Amino acid sequence: MDRAEGCWIKDRSGKKYLDFISGIGVANLGHAHPAVVRAVADQADRYLHVMVYGEFIQEPQVRLAERLAQVVPKPLSVTYFTNSGTEANEGALKTAKKYTRRKKLIAFKGGFHGDSQGSLSVTGREVYQKPFRPLLPNVLFLPFNRTKPLKAIDRRTAAVIVEPIQGEGGVKLPDDGFLAALRQRCDETGTLLIFDEVMTGMGRTGKLFASQHWNVVPDLLVLAKALGGGMPLGAFIGRPEIMETLSKDPPLSHVTTFGGHPVCCAAGLAALDFLIENKLPERAERLGQYLMDRLKKMSDIGGVKDVRGKGLLIGFELETAKLTERFVRNCREAGLILGWTLHSNTVVRLAPPLIMAEQEIDRGIEIMREALCKGLRK
Ligand code: PLP
Repeated sequence: MDRAEGCWIKDRSGKKYLDFISGIGVANLGHAHPAVVRAVADQADRYLHVMVYGEFIQEPQVRLAERLAQVVPKPLSVTYFTNSGTEANEGALKTAKKYTRRKKLIAFKGGFHGDSQGSLSVTGREVYQKPFRPLLPNVLFLPFNRTKPLKAIDRRTAAVIVEPIQGEGGVKLPDDGFLAALRQRCDETGTLLIFDEVMTGMGRTGKLFASQHWNVVPDLLVLAKALGGGMPLGAFIGRPEIMETLSKDPPLSHVTTFGGHPVCCAAGLAALDFLIENKLPERAERLGQYLMDRLKKMSDIGGVKDVRGKGLLIGFELETAKLTERFVRNCREAGLILGWTLHSNTVVRLAPPLIMAEQEIDRGIEIMREALCKGLRK
């Protein structure tokens, strides 16, 4: 790679690629957005890393935490910053275990929460877990989207962790009522509900957070990817009495040297302000509909099994893994970058920047049509 700007990436030979995956859901504002670059430069000019344990108040952290408190669903209000999505999930799981004094965790088949040991322990794919056993004990996996098995959530369960829309698992949407049933069962048993919105947050699905489509509020909301505007930043957010858990018995129960780096928080605040001021979630909703309509029309070529998604998080499912591989390769050769979901080898993930122009979507569709025709001919 040589440069990346807006929805385009240029390699060192001068070849240009249109980015339909945003560095896997990171570049919601496009690459190197001027507001983010300015915030990074200004903060870098003031200070980089200074201190860890809260002895000094760092304005970029406070300003971003305050802004997040204004926009996350109530009563969530307190933010703990991390460097990445997996670390944010680790922090959320530890918080839930310590707060509830319970040991059992529940997650979902097909879910993905990151690759450090705790997050991997709740990631519902045997093939990725197997080489790393033993992982965390007391983890139970339930089928996504089925309400009856939710009975397994009981008074010994510390937390249930779920992606409101499964991303890596193949862009699987919850049925209406599933997240609400989950919320209800957690309330009945005093279990904390963790929504991993690392992929679905920050406007990607047409609302600032995907769970808002179903009006369900978690106990802990986990964010990363687009949160830092292209800089490494994650967070988990909860109500004060839950988040206090980590600051006592013992004090500093969970610390991180770089989590909430001032430059990343400054970038995150610039990105969040731009996202909200320019109504990018609404734009994602509109553009997503446009893109999905165009993709559905591609079924006439053949080889397409399903098109599904929410806003600009779309799963384009083809009939075979071989065809999917050829399709993604043909697209890349023709200058279009797509995501192939790790856990589902027939689903191509589309997550373009929310700032993409309709003409750029049309250009991507043109490349995809040709790539699919070529893939089917082989
Ligand atoms: N959770 C979800 C839903 C993800 O999609 C990802 C990454 O793809 C993660 C967690 C892990 O985030 P990170 O790669 O920043 O550790």
